[in-house]
Amino acid sequence: MILVVAEHTGGKLAKASLEMVSAARSSGREGPITLLVLGHGVAGVAAEAAAVADQVLVADLSELATYDAELWAAATAQIARAGEAHTVITPGSRSGREYAPRVAVKLDAPYLEDAISLSAHGDALRAQRYTYLSRVTETVEASGPVVVVSAKPGAFAPAAPLGAPGEQYDIDLDLPERRVTITGRSVEKSSRVALSEADIIVTGGRGVGNAENFARLIEPLADNLGAGVGATRAVVDAGWRPYAEQVGQTGKTVQPGAYIALGVSGAVQHLSGMGKSKYIVAINKDAEAPIFKVADYGIVGDVSEIVPALIEASRR
Ligand SMILES: Cc1cc2nc3c(=O)[nH]c(=O)nc-3n(C[C@H](O)[C@H](O)[C@H](O)COP(=O)(O)OP(=O)(O)OC[C@H]3O[C@@H](n4cnc5c(N)ncnc54)[C@H](O)[C@@H]3O)c2cc1C
Repeated sequence: MILVVAEHTGGKLAKASLEMVSAARSSGREGPITLLVLGHGVAGVAAEAAAVADQVLVADLSELATYDAELWAAATAQIARAGEAHTVITPGSRSGREYAPRVAVKLDAPYLEDAISLSAHGDALRAQRYTYLSRVTETVEASGPVVVVSAKPGAFAPAAPLGAPGEQYDIDLDLPERRVTITGRSVEKSSRVALSEADIIVTGGRGVGNAENFARLIEPLADNLGAGVGATRAVVDAGWRPYAEQVGQTGKTVQPGAYIALGVSGAVQHLSGMGKSKYIVAINKDAEAPIFKVADYGIVGDVSEIVPALIEASRR
């Protein structure tokens, strides 16, 4: 079986989980795709998981109420062993990359980190990953009875639901004592959807002009559309927006349903982070801008004239 460890927040299955199921489906490895849901009060997450997986294993335990690398690694390795998984896929999130190597050590398995594609070659599993500040794409291959993989966020399209939901099974685990506890947490207040979760992203480039225009043009349009806000590296380097919003080779890889690029030239380093978006819409005053080569819809014009009209239309 292919064991995929679900990621979830606030009682909802994260988009990363759907991306990992896609990674599993595209891997060409045989066997049922099993989503492992670890947590407490996760019935809703398990039901969402069942829509895309052949089966769902649910460990709904008070010990798993908050994430812990040692517990997640112990649980994943236990289930991988018991189910004789030949492939274990974890999210390439901060936590996923924290516990995945521990799972690999426990299973004495090779580990493929930050995969952007997967394919089966005989008994081996081949992955592609970026290296050298994403300037080089490397192909790596791992073999053995079981391989552990972390999937780069945004690199795989979210999986579509199956015709019939997978079976759900409650499982019990033999967990170690928790040794690390979270003693405080302050959460940044933002009503805006995170880039990794967004189905629509509105990105501003240097053509937006300055930080004030970004707040005047990009943010309200994103808010009206329920979209995430993205930025190019030029914008981040200028200090108009935080690094967390950078899309591209050295920023985030995203694959939303719609990517709206405003005043973005479409440099290759930017395209490598958003080129797989389902629909790309571009507004640029230069008809020759490379972004138009990948755009499904484009307007040649000045963002400061066109975007206010879009804000008004989207508000209505
Ligand atoms: C190793 C490396 C890694 C990199 N990683 C990234 C990355 O992760 N992400 C990234 O984005 N870049 C990255 N870059 C930088 C990249 O090469 C480009 O420099 C950058 O993407 C350009 O950003 P931009 O499109 O905002 O600016 P520009 O290239 O300056 O383009 C601005 C565009 O706005 C248009 N414009 C100007 N005024 C208006 C207006 N009023 N209305 C409409 N359009 C207007 C212009 O015609 C132009 O096309 C990387 C570069 C290197 C070398």
